[in-house]
Amino acid sequence: MVPAISCSNLFKNYGPNKVLKGVDLEVPSGKIFALLGTNGAGKTTLIRSLLGLIPTSGGDIKVLGEEPYQIGPKLRQRIGYVSEEQGLYGWMTVAGLINFCKALYERWDDSLIHKYLDRFQLNPKSKVQTLSKGQTVKLALILALAPQPDLLILDEPMNGLDPLAQYEFLQIILKDYNLEGRTVFFSTHILADVQSTAHQAAILHNGKIQTVGNVAEIRKNIAKVKVNNDTDLSSSAGVRLNQNPAENYYLVPQETLSQVAAASEEVISEVTLEEAFFYYCMKSDRHD
Ligand code: ATP
Repeated sequence: MVPAISCSNLFKNYGPNKVLKGVDLEVPSGKIFALLGTNGAGKTTLIRSLLGLIPTSGGDIKVLGEEPYQIGPKLRQRIGYVSEEQGLYGWMTVAGLINFCKALYERWDDSLIHKYLDRFQLNPKSKVQTLSKGQTVKLALILALAPQPDLLILDEPMNGLDPLAQYEFLQIILKDYNLEGRTVFFSTHILADVQSTAHQAAILHNGKIQTVGNVAEIRKNIAKVKVNNDTDLSSSAGVRLNQNPAENYYLVPQETLSQVAAASEEVISEVTLEEAFFYYCMKSDRHD
């Protein structure tokens, strides 16, 4: 099956600022895939590059099998996108905007629109510019879902949503969006939600993908060890956790566990996604 997204050796510079420095990524069809990265890591830049919204500085991209600039109107209808700022026409009413968008698509699920307007308590008569931040995100999500896209790309969709709305959002993605052959690609730095939602994830840091794979595997690849206070594992592959200065915890790759066994007082063989994320970012800061 053609991957939903693939890019190789992708570069993007903004003047002297090298944001993407050789990104290799393959997102399989039919999966929920999370792109993780700190503020400014280049998540939005990567997403905008994938969609052909900005020119890249080098590399190859294919989205649903096509290069971004070759994507014609038919294929574009199969890609749903919610940007960080949503960018909806504020002067329209909710109903007016829905009708405007509906006219642009061959496939459009009216029942989904009604269901979610109701569930999110969005008044069709409200002007879009009067909606709260969270209501605007919800409206943008409904508009992206109604054409039943094969690929849904969401840039930090949880931003501005309260915990209940975040939960509702995750339920839509998990239960209501028919994943058969369809793909969700979303960027975030809310890692707790990734653990419960995403099948696969990639960590973007210092312009490169530091690790990619099944979320459970990413966690299992790293272990947490407590060593005595005189031991310093930083010179090997370890990254120190500074949660409590009295305790000397390090994150280490699973395969190096045998090398540090003699100094280990306690081994926690599966870390949280936050800890794995911290490990890959810190390790990259040391070497890249
Ligand atoms: P956040 O989580 O804070 O939204 P991000 O991972 O989405 O961050 P980007 O918005 O892609 O990161 O920004 C990556 C880098 O590219 C930043 O240093 C940013 O200043 C720079 N950048 C982004 N857009 C532009 C632009 N249009 N012109 C110049 N620099 C830009």
